[in-house]
Amino acid sequence: MLVMFFIYGLVIGSFLNVCIFRIPEGISVISPNSSCSSCGHRLYFRDMIPVVNYIANNGRCRYCNASYSVQYSIIEFLNAVLYLMIALKHGWSFYGAVYCILASLLLTVSLIDIKYMIIPDSLNVVGAVIGAIIIIYDSSLIWDKFIGFAVGFSIFSVLAFFTGAMGGGDIKLMTTLGLIFGVKGILFITVFSFFIGALVCAGLIALKIKSMKDKIPFGPFICMAALLYIFCGNEIIKVYLKLIW
Ligand SMILES: [Zn+2]
Repeated sequence: MLVMFFIYGLVIGSFLNVCIFRIPEGISVISPNSSCSSCGHRLYFRDMIPVVNYIANNGRCRYCNASYSVQYSIIEFLNAVLYLMIALKHGWSFYGAVYCILASLLLTVSLIDIKYMIIPDSLNVVGAVIGAIIIIYDSSLIWDKFIGFAVGFSIFSVLAFFTGAMGGGDIKLMTTLGLIFGVKGILFITVFSFFIGALVCAGLIALKIKSMKDKIPFGPFICMAALLYIFCGNEIIKVYLKLIW
């Protein structure tokens, strides 16, 4: 099962690469077929086997020999690792499947936000659909999810208003995640997005990769906090409650 999740993660990761480069440009993710960005040669299924192709062809296009970025393989690998971790925790279950889709969505949002400083609305729509599916699956959660939705929207609207550090995309993302994770989840994600953001920014500034004046997108921190919640949110909350009581 773990091997299956991993391979599935690689294949979906390959599709995410297409999404990351096409969605911000407004190009359909389904057609036209993938082609080499250098020579324009159509890529066939055998040219797009994740990671394996990169290694077999030394990171070069089979048709024109132009080298392409290792970034594609890294994204595929990262997605596969996320699937593997979800499989370990949830196995072959409803939440196992839903969280895989969600993890891919969060990965895509992060990378587009880092590259283009935007969070496309279409991705939030996908998130809202995931939220709706969870509510349909377990309708007892409906109030929790709707309050989470309202809390996510309110907290980040207020923060955006006062700090000016967040954009409309961040507010919409938090609203969507509120719907998916409910009240407890969205509060966890809020706290940890700032925590992770502070740590990463301090690191980037200390390593002189970024300066204090640079704009750093906030979306990836929200996504990392959401992934943290999927993997060990309940455990962290338990430890925290033990400490304060
Ligand atoms: Zn080529």
